[in-house]
Amino acid sequence: MSEFVDKLRAIVGDKGLITDEQTKHPYVTDWRENYLGTALAVVRPASTEEVAAVVKLCAAEKVAIVPQGGNTGLVGGGMPHETGREIVLSLTRMNRIVEVDTIGYSMTVESGVVLKTIQETAAAHDRLFPLSLAAEGSCTIGGNLSTNAGGVQVLHYGNARHLVLGLEVVTPAGDIWNGLRALKKDNTGYDLRDLYLGAEGTLGIITKAVLKLWPKPKDIATSWIAVPSPDAAVALLSGAHAASEDNVTSCELMARQGLDFVLKHIPGSVDPLTEIHDWYVLLEWSSTRARREGGNEGGLREKMEAYLGEAMEKGLVLDAAIAQNEAQARALWALRENHAEAQKKEGPSIKHDISVAVSKLPAFMKEGLAAMKKSLPDCRPVPFGHVGDGNLHFNCQSPPGWDKPSFMKYGEAISGAVYDLVVGYGGSISAEHGIGQLKLEDLAHYRSKVELDVMRSVKRALDPHNIMNPGKVIQV
Ligand SMILES: Cc1cc2nc3c(=O)[nH]c(=O)nc-3n(C[C@H](O)[C@H](O)[C@H](O)COP(=O)(O)OP(=O)(O)OC[C@H]3O[C@@H](n4cnc5c(N)ncnc54)[C@H](O)[C@@H]3O)c2cc1C
Repeated sequence: MSEFVDKLRAIVGDKGLITDEQTKHPYVTDWRENYLGTALAVVRPASTEEVAAVVKLCAAEKVAIVPQGGNTGLVGGGMPHETGREIVLSLTRMNRIVEVDTIGYSMTVESGVVLKTIQETAAAHDRLFPLSLAAEGSCTIGGNLSTNAGGVQVLHYGNARHLVLGLEVVTPAGDIWNGLRALKKDNTGYDLRDLYLGAEGTLGIITKAVLKLWPKPKDIATSWIAVPSPDAAVALLSGAHAASEDNVTSCELMARQGLDFVLKHIPGSVDPLTEIHDWYVLLEWSSTRARREGGNEGGLREKMEAYLGEAMEKGLVLDAAIAQNEAQARALWALRENHAEAQKKEGPSIKHDISVAVSKLPAFMKEGLAAMKKSLPDCRPVPFGHVGDGNLHFNCQSPPGWDKPSFMKYGEAISGAVYDLVVGYGGSISAEHGIGQLKLEDLAHYRSKVELDVMRSVKRALDPHNIMNPGKVIQV
């Protein structure tokens, strides 16, 4: 194998190769610390040509490749197995913004650019790149596209798949497909771009992308709202679409349990309301039309205040705080975005990234929460997430003080009950995080034979030697 490593070094140089165990460590463990893999080497190419040469070498030597971006994935997709026969191919050195086309509302980037850098670059050009999620300071656009990431603005702009015009991809044979076309219309055969989006690195390596941009919002209203129930949250959102003139960009639901964890574990967190409530909604409206301070018309904040007042009279709202400036809005968002971090600090938990139709969410939640409690009466449910997309992180925290092995004995019963229910409601067992290795068996269990057969056919056709992130998404 040292000969193989020498060949890798000849392609990427010393700067692009990590072989010592200590430096490899952050690349072979995941954010949740659920996986610890081993890698022959961590390879960090600096260009598409270097990626192609590495893949050609691996194809010739039958060495498997695990593509990796920011390593914030939550299903073990970017983790090598324990065989030691795989390399991790990190795209993080490919971090250039290639072009910003303000006229055509697009941006071309290398796949290792961190999401936050893309958002900031768009903003500097008075444009918006709307993909937004709590890991945006570390995740890369290549990882976002490969997982078809969701986040907090999907209900208005769509998920990652909808934010892309073109791709450049290195195939499992080491060929470069240049699909960097900034076209809104292109019906020339099968859509290869869509095939690679959400493929979790199992069909090829995304090296560049042409992203869509939007006008930058000029008026944003953000509020933290106590609601009596998930039914009220869904009704509040339903009415908000028209009341905001179709300007709802985020609608997040949280239970008190999650907020309590944030207040306990994240320094500087403050409950925006004086009373304790069971359920909260973080609602955001944004518009490209500038606010008119002092005029009669006002802006989104005034409209939102009027809407929440009406909703309060109908019993849909118990209390609310509307952010008066950007700093206050950021503080409200921090309460939502720190849920995952706070859960991690609280101890072991079982995560379910599920979705059902928005209108069915309240009924599902009622049954789902009861099912969790039936499996383990002392468990602490922590449902939160993107109610506007029908997507919840329907999580379950261990009873206080339990260690991971004791809690995980209940994992199968709890997750089985939740997933059976989700499928009964016509929902998805993985709404935005993907399958990776975590949900490999669940996918095989819950998807139909026809779907699995088609997926396997695609994988075998594009990656006949099964070297591209094997053992992720679908077993062949
Ligand atoms: C606190 C926190 C909050 C999160 N919130 C959300 C959320 O709201 N919505 C959401 O969707 N996700 C969320 N995630 C999950 C994660 O951030 C996303 O999945 C993200 O898109 C992963 O990007 P990454 O660069 O870290 O990819 P990685 O974790 O490095 O990789 C993810 C997958 O993509 C593959 N991959 C990576 N780069 C490439 C490439 N260039 N070509 C081909 N394959 C590649 C990997 O092999 C792996 O299968 C969250 C994670 C954390 C830690």
